Amino acid sequence: MSPAAMPSSGHQGSSAPHLVFVPSAGMGHLLPFTRFITAIADMGVDISVVTALPTVSEAEAEHFAGLFAAFPAIRRIDFNLLPFDASAFADTEPFFLRWESLRRSAHLLGPLIASAAPRASAIITDVTLASEVIPVAKNELKLPCHVLFTSGATVLAFLAYFPVYLDGANADHLVGDVDVPGVRHLPLDYCPRVLRNPDGLFTKQFIVNGREIAKADGMLINTFDALEPEALTALRGGKVVPGFPPVFAVGPLKSTPTAARSDKADSPIAWLGEQPARSVVYVAFGNCNAAALKQIREISAGLEASGCRFLWVVKTTILDREDTAELRDVLGDGFLGRVQGRGLVTKEWVDQEAVLKHPAVGLFLSHAGWGSVTEAAAYGVPMLAWPTLGDHKIIATVIRSGGFGAWMEHWSWQEEEEEGSVVSGAEIGEKVKEVMGDEAVSASAAKMREEATKAVAPGGSSYRSMHEFLAMLS
Ligand code: UDP
Ligand code: UDP
Repeated sequence: MSPAAMPSSGHQGSSAPHLVFVPSAGMGHLLPFTRFITAIADMGVDISVVTALPTVSEAEAEHFAGLFAAFPAIRRIDFNLLPFDASAFADTEPFFLRWESLRRSAHLLGPLIASAAPRASAIITDVTLASEVIPVAKNELKLPCHVLFTSGATVLAFLAYFPVYLDGANADHLVGDVDVPGVRHLPLDYCPRVLRNPDGLFTKQFIVNGREIAKADGMLINTFDALEPEALTALRGGKVVPGFPPVFAVGPLKSTPTAARSDKADSPIAWLGEQPARSVVYVAFGNCNAAALKQIREISAGLEASGCRFLWVVKTTILDREDTAELRDVLGDGFLGRVQGRGLVTKEWVDQEAVLKHPAVGLFLSHAGWGSVTEAAAYGVPMLAWPTLGDHKIIATVIRSGGFGAWMEHWSWQEEEEEGSVVSGAEIGEKVKEVMGDEAVSASAAKMREEATKAVAPGGSSYRSMHEFLAMLS
């Protein structure tokens, strides 16, 4: 169906497909969902969003409230989680526990979604819940089920291939290098570290979800063909896993009006407005990376030594945006005074997309979370990747192969375990200066921006993918 032929905005008629979204926890998972939901809100679909209660963090509660306030036609389906005793999972990351709690309540979704009116036409869920939600959708509700993947196609290829790799690897299920067919060879060190524990909760979830996604009706990804050509071609051609579901690359998706907290975003954006074009390094390591104090001090020394202007979002605690430490204590005496005028440091939530869109920004020193990479690619901002954990190193391979940034492979965040591996301020400063001045990297970043713009414009690859997906629902 052409976009012009689709029913118009806010259409509630019986012919509109009714999509029920079942998102997971963590802002890195929620944001891609709201981006996708708001992208299609005007495209002739009815939308319901399952919201798990109690909400896991204030950031998520606010985020949901913002979504429903901005889009009153979107329905909310409350999903009361069963009590979950996490005592058997000592030392497990809080978000993995939350995913487990959602997974263990997933059977309640059957009756909940069955009673939705109008009748649901399809379910769209998160990969962390896939192995629980897909059977509920398909066996119980007899509905198609799609997975909205919250990282890139290269990570998806790794996830989909990982169970196949394990089956053929060794009886102990020990992880080594993984050669993802048609995509790339991933040395052990690039693979999420948590997978090295075969008995860990995350590993178990990762494997069952990896197997089950092959049964999904479609995979939606916030990426575009020019950003991940190898992975998309391999997934679509059945090279990674034969008979893999259709893959819809629909990005880069724009941030949602609800995500832009303009009150708090004002000051960094206003400050950027006073800086020369391409002069500022934006430094941010995502929502879940609380850097150690020692490393934070080295970053401050590096930014000071680089001589560049900078905007730095500092986080010292892991839960989304609930940070109580005082910046002055974290950064050490005198730093803020010495960099006054050329550096802005904040621990508040910033509207990152508005930052990356700003002409004053010339480099993004980033942990290489997928949200950050797609935003930098969309706005043509060169990246200096300093992957922290999880899938970040696999994502850094996308930056490297796309040529729009540098990846410091030996920069680690493992300072607690490996004494002496804190990255020095001198090295950070040097590298920042070098990548800021790298013409080839800026040219590739500008090219990536052009490709991103083309992809979502009428007739572009992501535009077509989105409309193919919507047409499939009717
Ligand atoms: N983000 C933001 N402001 C902040 C911190 C994060 O807008 O102060 C957004 C950012 O734009 C991105 C997402 O949060 O869309 C973070 O996702 P990413 O995948 O980069 O990292 P994660 O936090 O999941 O590790
Ligand atoms: N993931 C997955 N299956 C799961 C759980 C997570 O594919 O059962 C994905 C997750 O979305 C991410 C990647 O695996 O893209 C690595 O997870 P990570 O530890 O980075 O967690 P996240 O950044 O998503 O919180």
